Amino acid sequence: MSKQSDKRLYFPVGEVERVEYPCTKCNQGFYRYTPDGERIEKHNQMQHNCTHCNAVTFFTIPYPALKYKNRIFVDWETIRGRASEKI
Ligand SMILES: [Zn+2]
Repeated sequence: MSKQSDKRLYFPVGEVERVEYPCTKCNQGFYRYTPDGERIEKHNQMQHNCTHCNAVTFFTIPYPALKYKNRIFVDWETIRGRASEKI
């Protein structure tokens, strides 16, 4: 996307933190949202796989997420699967 076609305005917020969920099985990787994974409709949970051991778990929000002023935000890069490097 070129800058000229982007009509949005951007305001700096600062101090945004990236929220990762460490894997409790291997303690080496992080759980990352799997875009084409399973989804538990009943609880609205999304599949995540560990970057190291590929363990599967489910969360209601896709990680890695962003945190700003104690609110958790969804990262569009995560939804697109960029964070897990699976495009
Ligand atoms: Zn793991």
